[in-house]
Amino acid sequence: PVVTRFAPSPTGFLHIGGARTALFNWLFARANGGKFLLRIEDTDRARSTPEATEAIFNGLKWLGLDWDDEAVSQAARMDRHAEVAHQMLENGSAYKCFATQEEIAAFRDAAKEAGTSTVYRSPWRDATDLPDAPYVVRLKAPREGEIVVEDAVQGRVAWKSETLDDLILLRSDGTPTYMLAVVVDDHDMGVTHVIRGDDHLTNAARQVLILDAMGWPRPVYAHIPLIHGEDGAKFSKRHGAPGVEDYRDMGYPAEAMRNYLARLSWSHGDDEFFTTAQAIEWFGLDAISKGAARFDFKKLDNLSGQHIRAMDDADLTQLLTDYMALQQMPVPGPEIRESLTQAMPALKERAKKLPDLIEMGHYLLTSRPIEMDAKAASQIDDVSRGMLERLTERLRNVTWTHTDLEATIKAFAGEEELKLGKVMQPMRSALTGRSTSPSIFDVLVHLGREESLARIDDVLA
Ligand code: GLU
Repeated sequence: PVVTRFAPSPTGFLHIGGARTALFNWLFARANGGKFLLRIEDTDRARSTPEATEAIFNGLKWLGLDWDDEAVSQAARMDRHAEVAHQMLENGSAYKCFATQEEIAAFRDAAKEAGTSTVYRSPWRDATDLPDAPYVVRLKAPREGEIVVEDAVQGRVAWKSETLDDLILLRSDGTPTYMLAVVVDDHDMGVTHVIRGDDHLTNAARQVLILDAMGWPRPVYAHIPLIHGEDGAKFSKRHGAPGVEDYRDMGYPAEAMRNYLARLSWSHGDDEFFTTAQAIEWFGLDAISKGAARFDFKKLDNLSGQHIRAMDDADLTQLLTDYMALQQMPVPGPEIRESLTQAMPALKERAKKLPDLIEMGHYLLTSRPIEMDAKAASQIDDVSRGMLERLTERLRNVTWTHTDLEATIKAFAGEEELKLGKVMQPMRSALTGRSTSPSIFDVLVHLGREESLARIDDVLA
């Protein structure tokens, strides 16, 4: 059975690169009926606050990436990591190194001077232990040949053994190093596939040595290219918001975000727009590309708009009101939610993000007296008031349907020898307080006869 994991170090937010890594692991687990585990790499006590961990949980929850079992704390497993280091001492794959910092520094200086390799070679590898002296535990890494990792994305990657030192497993205070902790945790958690950023590729060379030393099976590695900004540099704040919750706050639906993130270095034919269910069906490591993907906001907007339009209208209203609650905006009551759902086909026509729906649906969310913005107010003068007065007389007797309203208003404009816009813009001002809205016929239908006429009357009063 497939077991994947996401192993973030808490930094205070879930970076979009981390979110993409989590998504790939989640998709792969779900695609294979496996498990997706979460491990918080919280050994840096200063950074690993409960809030920083909470931020990761929240980011994953918003993205809908549910993890199996309870999240594992790496820091809580330090005794276990140390235990493994001691097993390695016993089986002869590790040794105690009594070299002092000064000795190691002196070795490096001398090597630099002589122009020889600065890779530290401890004299304690094959020496007898000193009693009662401080030591670190080092892995007996191979000195010859190559270390080879077969990576599902990068292919065969090899390192010359002579370029790697005997990595430290336990520090002199007895605490485990990161490299040891990751390997022990992955093993104990039964991880079969390690999917992570390719900034960890070199770590894999170290990690397989620990696995080999313990006689533990290697997982399948898949090192995925990092996300880049539009200029080709590693994605950072200067390219755009780095935290996944920023995208939530900007109003991208989670489904759209999953779709967009899935397409960063993974593809399925020419498919750009797909549902999460489809992504699960299609996802595989073989279709991950080696090339770094560029974060493209235009494409994200485009996909997001498509998802908004594909969504069921009642579901979309729910998503919108959840969003408004989260953003601490006043949440509309059941009646307005009804009208929003009814109006949704018009509201979502050009929307890219949830706030666009709020902007378009402003006329439903606001109530009399309607406040007009400056542009809307500029449409109202004596001439347009007179026109609106004559028009409302007609509207009082019309059946309140899109077809009849349209026919009546068009006929009215014809009789008054006015361009349709000259009639609709003042109406829009009166009905919505804005200069943009869905079609005026839609607005009239959504608001209903009574409310529509009352809003126009307010302007005439
Ligand atoms: N904690 C590491 C990070 O946040 C990930 C380690 C791993 O996936 O092996 O980059």
